[in-house]
Amino acid sequence: MFSNKLNIEEFMQGLIKRNPHEPEFHQAVREVAESVIPYINQNPQYIETRILERMTEPDRVISFRVCWEDDDGRIRVNRGYRVQFNNAIGPYKGGLRFTTHLTLDTLKFLGFEQTFKNSLTTLPLGAAKGGSDFNPKGKSDREVMRFCQAFMSELHKHIGPDMDIPAGDIGVGGREISYLFGQYKRLENRFHGVLTGKGLEYGGSLIRKEATGFGTVFFMNEMLKHHGESLDGKRCVVSGSGNVALYTAEKIMQLGGIVIAMSDSSGVIHVKDGLTLEQLNWLIDLKEHRRGRIKEFADHFNCEFVPDSKVWTIPAQLAFACATQNELTIDDAKTLVSNGCIAVAEGANMPSTLEAAHYLKENKVLFAPAKAANAGGVAVSGLEMTQNSMRLSWSMEELEDRLKTIMKQIHKQCIQHGQEDGEHVDYVRGANIAGFKKVADAMLAYGVV
Ligand code: GLU
Repeated sequence: MFSNKLNIEEFMQGLIKRNPHEPEFHQAVREVAESVIPYINQNPQYIETRILERMTEPDRVISFRVCWEDDDGRIRVNRGYRVQFNNAIGPYKGGLRFTTHLTLDTLKFLGFEQTFKNSLTTLPLGAAKGGSDFNPKGKSDREVMRFCQAFMSELHKHIGPDMDIPAGDIGVGGREISYLFGQYKRLENRFHGVLTGKGLEYGGSLIRKEATGFGTVFFMNEMLKHHGESLDGKRCVVSGSGNVALYTAEKIMQLGGIVIAMSDSSGVIHVKDGLTLEQLNWLIDLKEHRRGRIKEFADHFNCEFVPDSKVWTIPAQLAFACATQNELTIDDAKTLVSNGCIAVAEGANMPSTLEAAHYLKENKVLFAPAKAANAGGVAVSGLEMTQNSMRLSWSMEELEDRLKTIMKQIHKQCIQHGQEDGEHVDYVRGANIAGFKKVADAMLAYGVV
């Protein structure tokens, strides 16, 4: 017997029972359930078909052993994963993350989020996530190469240009994608656009590297514009200094904002008058090529460095969370509000805790959730796939225009489903419902699958 209405707590109890000891997955699902369940309850076709139960169960979880040899000739054993979450609206698509202590919990939360994010991009992209507990930090290039080759030796059986197209994420950048693609090509003897984020010489797309950060700022800009504000002259803090953070900072500066702080896991750099372009380029070189720590920036430019700290303590009008999950806690949210922050955009995946997101909403801080704000990366991956299929390459201008249009369309979808009485827009609800509806309707069309 079906009950007439879904209840959030009952739904979550069932999910937790089926997926014990997976707090990040529970958190990601709860965030969606809070906004989608009231919508489902107004649309009974989603209740009797148990669509939310189906969407929270991955299509498939693949786990495998990865054996490789380090530079000292020792055998190393890691675990590889691919969580193919949902292919209702397109082939599986999503990044690979290489980091110590990576668990299935994290990958399930990321794969679930990806389902909604990819739906919002307006492109035909299903959702997956994968990776390994291998940490490329401190490894030689040859060690990374041997690991990537071993990882792909298993993964290639499960991916393909119309099946599953992995990309980068934390710990997986251009170097790793190149080794992975080279091994895929060798094993399959086919030149397929099977990974995105490739080098420009072999099927990569311009602005893919910059896309997540640029997209986050385009989204912030739309959100501010919708509320009669702009980026111009705003003091901004950006957490992190990886790929997303660096190009978030670049686009903020191009649009007239002032970046006063960035960070890595060792601490925060505080540049009171704002980073110059020259300083940002130096930081990009440090992080992308020299793989250094952010303290070297402070030493080189003689600016303030606060060890073991977070950027949220530095007063700013705009905050960009671009490092990792759960980096912005309720205490950080309180600090931001008391320092007069007017908007937060999530460049990383689920960087705010649920409590922090609720607190920001209650205090009328504009809040751009990851699914919407960081969808630019996977969107340009979708454009890389299109270029690969057509066997041509678009120009920088063409791609940036397309990215901007996609971010505007995502913003529009958030407004459509998130506009509340008066001025306020609940972007979390808007993104969740818009992302949900497209995938759910496709699943309903297929029948019971
Ligand atoms: N890892 C990025 C994300 O979380 C990009 C995925 C992709 O390009 O497929 O969306």
